[in-house]
Amino acid sequence: MQVLLRHTAVVCGGWIAGVAVQLQHATLDTAGVYGAVALVGALGVWCAPRLRPGLRVVLLFAAVALLAWSSTGWRALEFSRSALSPALEGRNIQVVGVLSDLPRRTAAGVRFRLALETARLDGQTAALPPLLDVAWYSGPAPTVQGSWELQAQPQDLRAGQRWAFTLRLKAPHGSRNPHGFDYELWLWDQGVQATGYVRATADAAPPRLLGEAAAYPLARLRQQVRAGLDASVQDPAVAGLLAALVVGDQAAIERGDWEAFRATGLAHLVSISGLHITMFAWAAIALAGWLWRRSARLCLWLPAPRAAWLAGLALAVAYAAFSGWGIPAQRTCAMLFLFGGLRWLGVRWPWPLVCLLSAAAVLALDPWALLQAGFWLSFWAVALLCASDDALPARRAGAVPLWLRVAAPLRALAKAQWVVTLGLAPLTLLLFGQVSLVGLLANVLAVPWVTLVLTPLAFAGLVVPGLWDAAALAAQVFLDGAHMLASWPAATLALPIAPWWVVIPALAGALAMVLPWSWPLRLAGAPLLGCTLIWHAPRPPPGEFALLAADIGQGNAVLVQTARHTLLYDSGPRYGLDSDAGNRVLLPLLQALGLRLDLLVLSHRDSDHTGGAAAVLRAQPRLPLITSVDAVESLAPWGSLQRCEAGQSWEWDGVRFQVLHPRPADYAPAARVRVKPNTLSCVLRVSNGRSSVLLTGDIEQAQEAALLRQPDALRADVLLVPHHGSKTSSSAAFIAAVAPRFALVQSGYRNRYGHPAAPVLARYREQGIAVVDSPHCGAMHWRSTQPAALDCERTRDARYWQHRPP
Ligand SMILES: [Zn+2]
Repeated sequence: MQVLLRHTAVVCGGWIAGVAVQLQHATLDTAGVYGAVALVGALGVWCAPRLRPGLRVVLLFAAVALLAWSSTGWRALEFSRSALSPALEGRNIQVVGVLSDLPRRTAAGVRFRLALETARLDGQTAALPPLLDVAWYSGPAPTVQGSWELQAQPQDLRAGQRWAFTLRLKAPHGSRNPHGFDYELWLWDQGVQATGYVRATADAAPPRLLGEAAAYPLARLRQQVRAGLDASVQDPAVAGLLAALVVGDQAAIERGDWEAFRATGLAHLVSISGLHITMFAWAAIALAGWLWRRSARLCLWLPAPRAAWLAGLALAVAYAAFSGWGIPAQRTCAMLFLFGGLRWLGVRWPWPLVCLLSAAAVLALDPWALLQAGFWLSFWAVALLCASDDALPARRAGAVPLWLRVAAPLRALAKAQWVVTLGLAPLTLLLFGQVSLVGLLANVLAVPWVTLVLTPLAFAGLVVPGLWDAAALAAQVFLDGAHMLASWPAATLALPIAPWWVVIPALAGALAMVLPWSWPLRLAGAPLLGCTLIWHAPRPPPGEFALLAADIGQGNAVLVQTARHTLLYDSGPRYGLDSDAGNRVLLPLLQALGLRLDLLVLSHRDSDHTGGAAAVLRAQPRLPLITSVDAVESLAPWGSLQRCEAGQSWEWDGVRFQVLHPRPADYAPAARVRVKPNTLSCVLRVSNGRSSVLLTGDIEQAQEAALLRQPDALRADVLLVPHHGSKTSSSAAFIAAVAPRFALVQSGYRNRYGHPAAPVLARYREQGIAVVDSPHCGAMHWRSTQPAALDCERTRDARYWQHRPP
């Protein structure tokens, strides 16, 4: 038995290690390499039993790791063969496909997954990836001539419909920032290899509904339920919450509600994630076991733990399937099946081994899950529940007073919740940089409410439509409670994201605190848990500064840090009605790095520079602002407001900041009659006497010429290329005067202005200057301590699924 246990542990450990190593690669190997390595691995597995025990274990581990490495690599290679060819990007392609899931309504139109049937380009069959992520925008569309035209408006799309569209596609490309979300991995794991939009303008064949497909019956059923909910529940926020719970349509939840759920640590209850299904199954097992034990005859026929597990698994699978059968749901069900299956067989393996086996099984199905937050959250939650053994519902039995027996499942749930909330805190800090301080209270109240009242009522409404009124009432109570708790002043604790060597001791501390040990031992875990509180991200030493040009797409947003101060130069673009670079990129980035701003500079009025400002100022209302924008009322509240003018300067921690442009005369009414906002861009120079940086906004050649009157002030190691590399800017004389080591272009991948322009790039190249752009580099890091080095976020931890623009 011991030998079996040891070998299982070795095989599982080897598999996980092999997958983990493969996921670190920046490029894929050839099928030949994977085949050869798999052969070596298989040979190792075959030889292992013939060796003495010590060697056997080592060889088995290595051989299984090789098998896992090569099989994962081979799968990735096969999948990457159907990637979108760069030659097809941005072309009008005629596509017929079926909506494979519920479409999501957004502020800008509708988004959906399209399972491809046929694709044609210029009358020829085109090879496209099998699954596409498509948007159909409701606003006017830009024409080839640069003007705007009204396009065919999005219609009421439904899952299971077959449509003919003209699509414009591109490879999945997300922004890459420190601690940012890996959008490309997220799409890769779901099998999506191209994103795009419906071209519904005069130059394209109009979208046509071709009928209903027989495929995707579950998605069609979920669509019907979604429509039924919309029809019978008046309040859209409540209908959205019920849709999220019943059919997994998380996009139906309103933004403000999401923020409240996040602040109260309740988001896992409304997103059908691994953690949610784990908690759901745990509650279902507890309840089923408790009910089963009411009858001695049932228990004789089938022991309560088995019955409870069967019921819990069946409910969890049904729930996961109905909520969209997403990847997190699939792997959670696999894990539950294995977990319970071992218990069913009477295998009383130690829980760490069961966790290891489940993890290896999940990774055999979906290797890329290893990098998903949901994988770690659900495994850590299960590990904690197992480790704090008496939280297991199966242990409860014997003669206890009636009130205790009635309260038992609730007590078990509350206990499980305490364990999970405390134990997950360091992990959520590592993954999200935020932990909810009201989370324990919120979860103790909300988990029984959502799992035992709200979700059952919402599902019962499928059969008895009248019950949706009761479900709506329960949902309203839940929403009101979440908003009330979220409004408490200290609802959440946000900390900079700590490195793994801080988090691992904290996780050990959390585990110690929930183990069924004596209290002195458990309290010893607290200082370890506290490690995360005192960690600070390193800052530049006095007299030095660091630059971080965030990857915000088409626009400018640059963070400048000195030893004790932080400046944000521009705030990036607006992406849509309710999303901009401020709330999507800059605030999460500032939080992850543990930074508070001391000053915001908004170079000029254009929305690709001011789009995120309102969000930044809302998060930090007393922030001083320097800008050339005169109508800033919409951005209020700011702390103090100064017009940016050449001649302004200040010093922070031995680093000098100087405004070089615009001159006060540029603001004179006569000068402003004809001018574009670009011409008033604040130009900021940052220098410590040894190294310097020049930030130029969208100045054009006339302003560059004016700056050339004081060429000594222009020399810089790093230049933020004027106007994103537009043809209107970067004159040869200006480039020569600045003579930077690095020219940084902040622009969007395949942006419609064609920035940076080829002639401009050539001008920099002629002078031997390296141009770095955000589509290729992601966020750009530069430090005055190492002026000759520029770090790209995209190449720092490059992985094979990440997009490499041509
Ligand atoms: Zn711009």
